[in-house]
This record gives sequence, C-alpha cells and structure tokens, in this order.
Amino acid sequence: MRIDLHAHSNASDGTDSPAELVAAAVGAGLDVVALTDHDTVAGHTEAADAVHALPAGTRLTLVPGAELSCVAGDISMHLLAYLFDPAEPAFAAERELVRTDRFRRGRAIVERCRELGADISWEQVRRIAGEGSVGRPHIASALVEAGVVASVSDAFTADWLANGGRADVRKHETDPVTAVRLVRAAGGVPVFAHPGAVKRGRTVSDQVVADLAAAGLAALEVDHIDHDEPTRAHLRGLAAELGLLTTGSSDYHGSRKTVRLGEHTTDPQVYEALVDQATGAKPIGG
Ligand code: AMP
Ligand code: ZN
Ligand code: FE
Ligand code: FE
Repeated sequence: MRIDLHAHSNASDGTDSPAELVAAAVGAGLDVVALTDHDTVAGHTEAADAVHALPAGTRLTLVPGAELSCVAGDISMHLLAYLFDPAEPAFAAERELVRTDRFRRGRAIVERCRELGADISWEQVRRIAGEGSVGRPHIASALVEAGVVASVSDAFTADWLANGGRADVRKHETDPVTAVRLVRAAGGVPVFAHPGAVKRGRTVSDQVVADLAAAGLAALEVDHIDHDEPTRAHLRGLAAELGLLTTGSSDYHGSRKTVRLGEHTTDPQVYEALVDQATGAKPIGG
C-alpha cells in the first residue's frame, strides 16, 4: 500500500487539475491519495468524478481533505483536515473567510512587488491562479514570468515573498486550537502539516503541539521534504509522548515544486486509524 496524504491541485496552488492529479496518483503507483488544497474543497467533485471514471482494474482511493492556514501567536502554521463534512456551516464559513482574505492580501502583495520594481499585475496573478484559492506561489509564478526571479522557490526569500519578506503581507489565519475543534466538529480528522518546516519561517513550540493534542489533534506529519532527520526524530518522540499518530506525505504541487507524488508515504495502519476517526465523509473509490 502506497499512501500519500497531502497533495495540491489547481483548486489552490498546485498545477494539476483535480482530474490530472488523480491520473498522476495512478501513474505514481499510489493506492491512496488525499486532495488537500489550501482553505478550499473546490477540487473534491472533479477528483471524485475522475476516481469513479478510472478503468476497471485501476484502484485508487481518494481522501477528500483541505490544508488550513492557521496562526499560533504570530507563527503561521498549516493544519491538514481529512474526511470532514464539507457542508458543516461553521467550518465552511471559516474556510470562506480565509479564501476571501486571500484576494485582499494577494492584491496588496502585488502592489508591494510593483513598488519594489517587479512588473507584475493582479490580472496576471488572477490568470495564473484561475479559479484557485489565491496564494503566494501564484505570485511567485508571476515573478518568474516577469523575469524577476528564476524559480518559484527563489521568490520565497526575504527580498520577496518569504514570511516577513519585503513583499509579504499577512492574511487572515485561524487560531489552530479553534481550527482543530472546527475540524472535529465537522466529523473530520486534523493533522499538523510539516510542524518542523524551519525553512519557511519560525515553527511552533512543543507546548503548542501539546495544546493542539489536548484539543483533538490526531497526528503529526513527520516524513515531509522540509524536515531533516533530527527534526523527524524529535517529532516522532513528541508524537509518542502526546499519544499522536505520525504520517508521511509529499505535499505535491505539480510543476510548482520539485517534490514527486509518493515521495513520502504514510503507514497503512496509521491510515486505517485516521479513517476510523472520521465521521464527516468516507474515502472515495478503491
Ligand atoms: P500562502 O498560502 O499564500 O501563505 O503561501 C504559502 C505557500 O507557499 C505554502 O503552502 C508553500 O506551498 C509555499 N511556500 C512557503 N514557503 C516556501 C518556501 N520557502 N519555498 C517554496 N515554497 C514555499
Ligand atoms: Zn501550497
Ligand atoms: Fe503547507
Ligand atoms: Fe501543502
């Protein structure tokens, strides 16, 4: 069983459509893939349709999910949510709030980039993002198009879009304890995404992780491209101490990042335990 519980489509800042992501998951030999776009479930229907349309003999299970933008104190962090009821009103309203603020903030970042001499426009960013939940990676792609930086990851420096960078503008982000409770109340399973991704900025203390565990967190995403070995060892120890499961996943973004689908995977027993905790939705297909 090859299980990848973190992937983005062009419903947020990935480059594959949801149907293309399903095809790519089959191509990568995955048995299970989770669709976890930032603050949106807009890709779920297309992905589910693509799974249902797979030829007989091709088995892929889709786990519908999302990746929520959170802030603990002033430290941004991401919470994965799986198998929640997308119609549950309180959680749906919070996702909507974040998505709406992404537009205000996207415009403000473009404005800052222009002040700093980058010839990009909001129309260009909207074209790149399409229907997707607008994020800094779309603006990074615009900076690449304009020849300001050579790659999307080169745009995530203090000069441009990195957390606290010259052109970074904050968006509304949810308090993570509130987010964990919202996810559980919608029947979903919350998992802390890349808790030790230091290259993206400051990371939260073990005490914050303990507070999230007490609020209902299910697992820590340990095996992730942004974690070195000592970080993974520390997170495994912390998870054991707090009674949390541990997952592994690629955080695939299509061609916007170099990571491959299935580059990191989750243990089948952990996957089963997560699914057993969910009451808001069921895995699709398989
Ligand atoms: P946003 O959701 O608009 O705040 O943008 C955050 C997204 O930008 C993250 O989910 C990552 O996909 C991407 N990102 C953040 N930091 C980096 C980095 N250092 N290098 C490449 N991508 C990054
Ligand atoms: Zn992303
Ligand atoms: Fe993330
Ligand atoms: Fe992600």
